[in-house]
Amino acid sequence: MRDFAFLEPGTVAEASHMLADLGDSCRIFAGGTALMLGMRQRMLTPSHLVSLGRLEALRGITFDAREGLRIGALTLHAEVARSPLVQAHYPMLASMAARVANPQVRNQGTIGGNLCYADPATDPPGCLMALGARIVVSGRGGERVVDIEDFLVDYYVTALAQDEIVTQVRLPAPGAGADGRYSRFLRTAAEHRPLASVAVAVRREGAFCVEARLAVGASTPIPSRLRRAEALLAGKNVTAELAEEAAAIVAADINAVSDMRGSESYRREMVRVVARRTIAELFGVASE
Ligand SMILES: Cc1cc2nc3c(=O)[nH]c(=O)nc-3n(C[C@H](O)[C@H](O)[C@H](O)COP(=O)(O)OP(=O)(O)OC[C@H]3O[C@@H](n4cnc5c(N)ncnc54)[C@H](O)[C@@H]3O)c2cc1C
Repeated sequence: MRDFAFLEPGTVAEASHMLADLGDSCRIFAGGTALMLGMRQRMLTPSHLVSLGRLEALRGITFDAREGLRIGALTLHAEVARSPLVQAHYPMLASMAARVANPQVRNQGTIGGNLCYADPATDPPGCLMALGARIVVSGRGGERVVDIEDFLVDYYVTALAQDEIVTQVRLPAPGAGADGRYSRFLRTAAEHRPLASVAVAVRREGAFCVEARLAVGASTPIPSRLRRAEALLAGKNVTAELAEEAAAIVAADINAVSDMRGSESYRREMVRVVARRTIAELFGVASE
């Protein structure tokens, strides 16, 4: 691994200035789980790392019934999973976070680092997209709030400018009848990373779906909303047949990738099966 200088700014503004001054030769360091792998493999060779470790403002989880949830960028996956606030108001998020990787990564990796690395084979982005997340970004020009659908641009590419830092993830307050489910499919039990993921967030009255937001990740370059399937579910009583129909639309509409872990057709089929089961389980209707 190439030698590097380790910088520890005391404020977000100081960190932004370091990023702007050092340009491409520096990287932000949060938990280091993704960064260190990239550096060991010499895919990344920064001369400076700007650590966020001293920025206490980037830690913690708060909830307000009107404003919704705020998760500091430095919050660990394990902290999201065990947060009583997340468990009470966004159980699908807590359940997703509890399944990320393994205990070591969950206790070292941060939610901000996960989003900023923009690795497609991860869990939080799709789940957060279904929940309507917005990402708070801070740079020399001030603060901006970006919809997660605009924040994730492509494989390993985000909308962050060189001097910008993700400070917070925000979720809107759950509406009446809010419910949801996150499913991930692993090709083998030994794998940590999902081959496909489906997140469904709804507002429901029993079996009646008032509103649906559905996102697929891990099988696509970036997670995407499936708006045709969402429109099919909204305003209807969900049956096993409707779940099947929606899942077929999901599988047809995704931009499935083909790589060493799975062909496009295999991923499409797995997404169809996982989507059907996820919708059916959420609404408590039979699905084989
Ligand atoms: C063995 C292994 C298995 C894994 N399996 C899974 C899995 O099953 N599911 C899953 O979802 N994920 C998985 N991951 C990915 C894991 O979730 C991420 O590595 C982790 O969340 C990254 O967070 P970090 O704090 O360690 O980021 P770092 O490694 O510190 O940083 C990652 C990148 O983001 C940038 N960055 C970090 N924080 C910020 C910020 N606040 N603002 C701007 N840029 C920032 C860094 O510069 C760097 O480019 C796995 C990782 C490993 C190593």
